[in-house]
Amino acid sequence: SRVPEGDAAIRATDNDAALARLSAVRKGYLTDPFITPLVPRAHLEPLRPPLINIGTYVRSEALDELVNGWLALSQQEGVKCQIVSLGAGSDTRFWRIATGPNQDTLARYIEIDFPEITTKKAMAIRKSKDLSSLLGKPEDVHLGNGGTALHSPVYSLLAADLRRPPAESLAPLLTAGPEPPLAPHLPTLLIFECVLVYMTPEASGAILQWFTDYFQNNQPSRDGRGVLGSIVYEMFALGDQFGKVMVNNLKARNVTLPGAEPYPTFESLPTRFLQHGWDVARALTLKDIRRDYIDPSELERISQLEMLDEIEELELVLAHYAITWGVKLPPATGELKARW
Ligand code: SAM
Repeated sequence: SRVPEGDAAIRATDNDAALARLSAVRKGYLTDPFITPLVPRAHLEPLRPPLINIGTYVRSEALDELVNGWLALSQQEGVKCQIVSLGAGSDTRFWRIATGPNQDTLARYIEIDFPEITTKKAMAIRKSKDLSSLLGKPEDVHLGNGGTALHSPVYSLLAADLRRPPAESLAPLLTAGPEPPLAPHLPTLLIFECVLVYMTPEASGAILQWFTDYFQNNQPSRDGRGVLGSIVYEMFALGDQFGKVMVNNLKARNVTLPGAEPYPTFESLPTRFLQHGWDVARALTLKDIRRDYIDPSELERISQLEMLDEIEELELVLAHYAITWGVKLPPATGELKARW
């Protein structure tokens, strides 16, 4: 069959991510009851090689750890929080949180992707009781914007091209639905899981600046409010020999990576946040996370699932993926008083 081109090639990466996740679930690396209703025919697809399954496992565990840590912190502070996932694709995270131990801490969850992807996801949600029953009473769940959007009290799905100027692409956050999806007063976590690489650094910088400005201007500094957090998962160091192989594999599928120009180094990853005046930023490669942060008993468990003889190759692949996270604290109370 023909290889998709242009934006269709970018959108096709969502299917890869979903199939990789389902493969890791079928092999016993991960548990996720929501992937099957969201990606219906995926179980007919072949499983992924062990190396990909392990990579999916490490990425998923690391992101879950950071997201759950954020939710647990909000709970400790006694405030609810909201999460915005940009380029969310077929991600199941909302449903996993909504059935997990931190469900009461989540006030709102918003997902954004291209309209083709959100339309498909909205339909899958409407079709599945397992998915839709977690959004609230049926009368409170509405399709919007010609079926490209879905609104509910706790979950919103919005269509946008994130490469457009944020005043346009992010406008639905403030205007769509029976009430605006984005709450101005809640601590907010932004998730960019494998999406920024598909847009230029200028476009992703503009998105981060939009959120920085929005919460800076809207949130009073009390109760832990006004805190903005973000997690980015991305490929990096694509300039080395192995990186070039990765880039060429994607090129063969018509996927270009404007977000990887110039190739970021590990040291440069936190500047994603620091250049917007954020207070804290840290990065770890999946290689380091697997070695230093995954519980040894878990590593032992997954080593039993399937044979992997090429540990060096695994480490080489994992060394080209990183998770970067950052925090923007509210303006100091004194400064806020001066502005009042
Ligand atoms: N975040 C999901 C995950 O990790 O499973 C999906 C990742 S997938 C590799 C990339 C997603 O970003 C796709 O769903 C794609 O449609 C979306 N995306 C890429 N560029 C985008 C853009 N300019 N606007 C909106 N969505 C975009």
